[in-house]
Amino acid sequence: MALMTHTQPLPDEVDGVFVGGGHNSLVAAAYLARCGLDVLVLEANSTLGGGVTTEEITLPQFRHNLHAFFVRWTADYTIWNDLDLDRYGVQAIFPEVQNAVPFDGGQRALLNYRDIDRSVAAIAALSPADADTYRQVHAEFTEIVDRIEAPLRFAPPLAKDEFRERLARSGLGRRYLELADRSALDVINDTFSAEPLRALLAFNVAVRGYLPVIDEPGTGYCAVLALVNSHQGRMIRGGSYEMAKALYASGYDAGVRAVNNSRVASIEVSDGRAVAVETDDGRRVRARRFVASNVPADQTLLDMVEPSHLDDALVMALRNHRALEEGLFGVHFALGRPPRFTAAAEQPEILGSLNFALGYESHEDLLIDHRAIAERVVPDHTGLHSSFPTVNDPTQAPPGAHTTFAWQFVAAREPDGADRVWTQADNDRQVKAVIECYRRYAPDFEDCVLGVAAHSPTDTGAHLTSMPRGDRHHGSFHPDNWGADRPHRSVSDYRTPVDGLYLCGSSQHPGGSFTGNPGFNAAGAIADDLGLQVWWPRRDATAVLDALT
Ligand SMILES: Cc1cc2nc3c(=O)[nH]c(=O)nc-3n(C[C@H](O)[C@H](O)[C@H](O)COP(=O)(O)OP(=O)(O)OC[C@H]3O[C@@H](n4cnc5c(N)ncnc54)[C@H](O)[C@@H]3O)c2cc1C
Repeated sequence: MALMTHTQPLPDEVDGVFVGGGHNSLVAAAYLARCGLDVLVLEANSTLGGGVTTEEITLPQFRHNLHAFFVRWTADYTIWNDLDLDRYGVQAIFPEVQNAVPFDGGQRALLNYRDIDRSVAAIAALSPADADTYRQVHAEFTEIVDRIEAPLRFAPPLAKDEFRERLARSGLGRRYLELADRSALDVINDTFSAEPLRALLAFNVAVRGYLPVIDEPGTGYCAVLALVNSHQGRMIRGGSYEMAKALYASGYDAGVRAVNNSRVASIEVSDGRAVAVETDDGRRVRARRFVASNVPADQTLLDMVEPSHLDDALVMALRNHRALEEGLFGVHFALGRPPRFTAAAEQPEILGSLNFALGYESHEDLLIDHRAIAERVVPDHTGLHSSFPTVNDPTQAPPGAHTTFAWQFVAAREPDGADRVWTQADNDRQVKAVIECYRRYAPDFEDCVLGVAAHSPTDTGAHLTSMPRGDRHHGSFHPDNWGADRPHRSVSDYRTPVDGLYLCGSSQHPGGSFTGNPGFNAAGAIADDLGLQVWWPRRDATAVLDALT
């Protein structure tokens, strides 16, 4: 029967084609479809969402979030609101205990909470001076995030000089510059003295993808963001993939159509304009008005577009662009029951913490990873970024059972610059080290394990070709690859030298993570260029900065 085929037919032509069905494409497509455009998303894999995925890789019905898990989306997040995601059944869970950093070999833990008073009280047990500072700095940093950092993520980046000049006009802007010009590590270490607190904050910068640049001047803004966000972490009920489903459902209602198992091989350019895409099995779709790519800028422009359409300087810059030097080695566990943390004797609520830093008792522990990644070696030290999702959301495992995962910061490359390839033997070694690390803090951990699966940066890159070597942010967060320089001055406004060809993924400002910001901003650029009636509230970086006092 003709319909029994794995290759779905594609329409001959649409208004706009999205290359890749990561969450940023799903966001941009949903916004533009609501302007009346007929848009098509072509995804290479069999499911949409890219890094926003949940899979049963250990045992049946144990759901594992292989990539994005920690989110900051709330029902009042701009994109959630605009796309009316409540209607599509998605729910964010906001655990009361936000972070746990066991120390003293696991006898005690620094916990922090949604609630600032409780968090300050926990810090006071370590250092009364740090507790006072924390309260004051939290208020100051919250104002900076609310008035500067958060709104600027929803607008195309300003050129560096203009950005600085406008910030310098206000007191708050000057304070932001003073912090941002330092390194994230200096901001933390110069502000606080208690090691578990320094470790927590440096760790929460690092998990955003700042190893090995956490000590680079120009990353201080991330310490500000990380401190405030340390009280705002959420997870998605049922697993992160529910978010990909909701984004597509919202787009689908507005007319977005996606086709999976459709890898785009080339973007056709005619008279300097992107006019069509062709898949690797020879199917072609004409794009009447635009093509937008969720795939990193270097892959889009160097691999899919004929080089004669690009100038040499851009080609050179993209070839040499700064990739993320760090990958996350993931180990996912199915558990018959939760383990008993030693610290739970005094602090029973620890298990419900959304975010665990295990093996990071001082900021020096993190610096071991930092140095190893800079030197492109695997560290001797094992530290884990972990959570027990099922404690806050029992729907992610069979009744009474649990899951956990551990991500370890590892070098993405070998010392000679070659991609690091993780073999089965490497995976087995990592799994052993990870179990040992859990056992330091929860001695009965191994007794709880029913099943285990490793997911290395090599696996991430194989599953998502948009993340080679596990490059989850489609490029480094080095200050050279930030703002209007991300990924290169000439394409940082989501436009490319090819008319009608746009970049809407994490290689663009403000970079990777499950935020939807690059997709949101790219939708705005496309809508402006096509002269569409924009239905959603827009933000303009100059207006944000000019409103500062
Ligand atoms: C281990 C790990 C843990 C993470 N944890 C978190 C976390 O807790 N919180 C968080 O916010 N973020 C996290 N991230 C980062 C987050 O997953 C990514 O930054 C985000 O998913 C990137 O979204 P995107 O839409 O820009 O691109 P992607 O998710 O990379 O999507 C791109 C899509 O394009 C498709 N594609 C590629 N090439 C083609 C082609 N030629 N044709 C058609 N389709 C193509 C890919 O298959 C993919 O679906 C994590 C990532 C990893 C790897």
